[in-house]
Amino acid sequence: MVALHEGGVGDYLGVAYEDEWAATHRFTADLAGYHGWQWAVVVAAYPESDHATISELVLLPGPDALVAPEWVPWNERIRPGDLSPGDLLAPFPDDPRLVPGFMATGDPVVDDTALEVGLGRARVMSREGRLDAAERWYEGDHGPDTEMAKAAPSTCGLCGFYLPLAGSLQAAFGVCGNEMSADGQVVHAEYGCGAHSDTLLPTGGGSPRYDAYDDGAVEVVTVTTSQTPDTTETPETTETPESPSMQDSTSSS
Ligand code: SF4
Repeated sequence: MVALHEGGVGDYLGVAYEDEWAATHRFTADLAGYHGWQWAVVVAAYPESDHATISELVLLPGPDALVAPEWVPWNERIRPGDLSPGDLLAPFPDDPRLVPGFMATGDPVVDDTALEVGLGRARVMSREGRLDAAERWYEGDHGPDTEMAKAAPSTCGLCGFYLPLAGSLQAAFGVCGNEMSADGQVVHAEYGCGAHSDTLLPTGGGSPRYDAYDDGAVEVVTVTTSQTPDTTETPETTETPESPSMQDSTSSS
């Protein structure tokens, strides 16, 4: 404290007795960047002593001190979406979402497969883990309660782009295979979107009874008029581009 020279130590704040032989005296810290901090000086003396010795001198945050937020371990800090290419994220040893592969999971497809190939995978999703996932997906962006699903012409379960999951989640979830929609994402069977395979485009015709007249589909034909009309021929005979063979047969006869 001597090294701090003048200004390092502020007002005396009082004393707190640690036990019969030790006490802590506190002073405000008069230091730049340490607003609200306090000097704590622990002194001690044996019984009947005529002097005390300094045991410890520390700078501690007071009730108004600006301190860093409480430290949170990385495994509690990490959030969905934080994983980047190259990152490694191992499950916790007691992760309730996983169970050893030799345990019955309650999912008949997983259990049967594990039996077929021996013990199967080292760890598989537990029932709890699957229920958690199902709940997230149901309430997520591709669940049945979303605005997209409510406005869709039909449901994913009836869509040609719907690829059902295997296992116990098969009845309710699948993956969308439509690159124009939720491509590669898990969708609920009752979700839906406007890119459903059964979606029909409106014809755009003005009349519900007749198709629209399409200029682009009409073949334009140039008709040349005769310079010297043959008066011997009957006026009803008319050349039409659509029936050249009929015209030939009439002339030869
Ligand atoms: S295209 Fe739409 S309706 Fe079809 S599976 Fe994908 S999200 Fe569902």
